[in-house]
Amino acid sequence: MEKWPVGVFTSVDAGLGVDLAVAKELNIPTIQIHAPHAGNRDAAAADELKKRLDVYGITATAVFGGFEGESYADIPTVIETVGLVPPATRASRLAEMKEISDFAKHLNCDVIALHLGFVPHDRSIELYKQTVDVTRELCEYAAKNGQSLHLETGQETASGLVDFIDDTKCDNLFVNFDPANMILYGTGEPIEALETLGDRVRSVHFKDGRWAKSPGEEWGEEVRLGDGDVDIQKYVETLKAIGYNGPLTIEREIPQEPERQKSEIGHAVSLIEQLRSEVWPS
Ligand code: MG
Repeated sequence: MEKWPVGVFTSVDAGLGVDLAVAKELNIPTIQIHAPHAGNRDAAAADELKKRLDVYGITATAVFGGFEGESYADIPTVIETVGLVPPATRASRLAEMKEISDFAKHLNCDVIALHLGFVPHDRSIELYKQTVDVTRELCEYAAKNGQSLHLETGQETASGLVDFIDDTKCDNLFVNFDPANMILYGTGEPIEALETLGDRVRSVHFKDGRWAKSPGEEWGEEVRLGDGDVDIQKYVETLKAIGYNGPLTIEREIPQEPERQKSEIGHAVSLIEQLRSEVWPS
């Protein structure tokens, strides 16, 4: 794989990523992929997807988990519904993540990832300890499959995420950094957050957004890469400065507008290729 290959977040039957065929059309060499729905992620389904990726010449660099019942409608709903934090769904979702880890292994993919949910900010409460425990159990399972677990940024500040990762004591737990999420959730200035997380960042999203009027209380707005409040040039320079050398994965979640989604991903590819040649000349 070339250094800092461009990537795109894709979906087959679940999640908000672009259709896999678009990655092929745009000649994007790597993808992250949202795990298919339960029932479509056994060994046979994985082998079929692997064959399709091989034909396309595309490498899967991460498989993202996501669950029925999650809603990003507003910030309080995220707290109640997303990830492995909510107690009522935790055991069944952990079982699903283990299945997704096996699915990723069939794809020869050594990274699984997810939005863990809204980790409590008070490290002394029971819910926080439970979240540490479930994360550790998933990391131990992933390690047996030769994988790391990457936590998508957004719900926590960078320093909160560092504390959480340290508390799990897992050596295969890292960060999928999404600069736009820091803005959309109002959890911190993205470039500073990236510097704080440093070499814990092992995969990234290229996504842009604008701050809300009341950050942390209402959503910011996701926009086309380069049009928002993430300084993309500074983002690329900072990735270089922290020694990042993984894929540069575009995320644009507007599946309800497929033509616009494809065209804005194409725009993002051009922007990244231009910045990459300036900042990381080969
Ligand atoms: Mg993201």
